[in-house]
Amino acid sequence: MQLIGADFLLICDEKFEILKNAGILFDKEQILEIGEYNELVKKSPQNTQYYKQSVITPALCNLHLHLEFAQNKGILNFGNFGRWLDSIIVNRDLLMSGNLEKEMQKDIKHLLQSGIGFVGAISSYGYDLEILAHSPLRVLYFNEVIGSKAEMVEALYQNTLMRLNASREFASERFFPALAIHSPYSVHPMLFSEILTLTKQENLPLSIHFLESYEEREWLEHKRGYFRDFFKKFFHTTMQPFYSIEAFLDSFKELQPYFVHCLQANKDELQKIKNLGGRLISCPKSNRLLNNTLLDLSLCQEVGISPIFATDGKSSNDTLSLLDELRVALYAYKGYDLEELAKILLLGVTYYAGKSCNIKIGSLQAGYKPDFAVFKVEAREQIALSLLLQAKTAEALYIAGEEINLRGDM
Ligand SMILES: [Zn+2]
Repeated sequence: MQLIGADFLLICDEKFEILKNAGILFDKEQILEIGEYNELVKKSPQNTQYYKQSVITPALCNLHLHLEFAQNKGILNFGNFGRWLDSIIVNRDLLMSGNLEKEMQKDIKHLLQSGIGFVGAISSYGYDLEILAHSPLRVLYFNEVIGSKAEMVEALYQNTLMRLNASREFASERFFPALAIHSPYSVHPMLFSEILTLTKQENLPLSIHFLESYEEREWLEHKRGYFRDFFKKFFHTTMQPFYSIEAFLDSFKELQPYFVHCLQANKDELQKIKNLGGRLISCPKSNRLLNNTLLDLSLCQEVGISPIFATDGKSSNDTLSLLDELRVALYAYKGYDLEELAKILLLGVTYYAGKSCNIKIGSLQAGYKPDFAVFKVEAREQIALSLLLQAKTAEALYIAGEEINLRGDM
């Protein structure tokens, strides 16, 4: 049994409760008790550590990233979704070769150093499997499915099964195999229905990029625009959209998937996602870089959705740090009360991210996983805001009750 404490403890529950001079009593399995540090010391833990001028939060959860795009630096084209997607197709082989493994290792180290203990990794190829499985991170590992050609459906399905089974070899308390459907514009209906059946049968978490761009909406709704030319240019074929927006959403009954981005979703569609029990993940920096848009938080509030925040991959970001992500969001969502916005953002990478999966994580309460991040913060009031303004890296990180070495070689 160990005890850590700090000047402030952010419980990260719906009320955003904050405790002062507080501590967490824990073992490797779970948080045993939360309370005043001086009282918990009396319970004779084997190890005690008090972090002065610091804030403890649950370890942060970055539930949408693409580690396999770790090598993008100045290669992909930002500022317009169509130009970006073109540049992905053209540079995909380049991005997947070279020193990919080394760059992915660096990114994992950086994730940990920025206080992240839990990731949702979208894997296109499986190159990130062993690196993630052997890292200290907790991982939701989404084997992603993509493919629009009918003649390829069976081969792609078999490939998905193979990758899913490979990821199952690593299944544990820290590593959770899952599936991802790339998007409504890129997955053939036969493949889509096979993956939905598999998801249901195996009871797996599911993630989908949904209505990220104006171009996607224009294609699904009006069968025109960028995507009509895209299929001609890269696949030498004339295509029709596979689904209407409504029919696509209706396919996810009983699945409660993660819908990522939803920038172009209107109120009715968000309501539908809410009614499905779906989760919404927003990646503000990626959204600015590719689509010059941010998720409408007030619309989410109206339908009762609490967004989860994530970074997306380096394919559309410069870092995988949630501290950077939330700091940018803090400046970008003008018009909100600063402290209230800071709380919404923090709960989107702790409480609501944790609540979305069947793991007791993302909140500092008895019975939850002993995963915490400690940040150096000088503050008397406006603790959430001060944290987002001051914290660039974590002072300490605990996953499964063990302190992670954030310096040197890991
Ligand atoms: Zn993504």
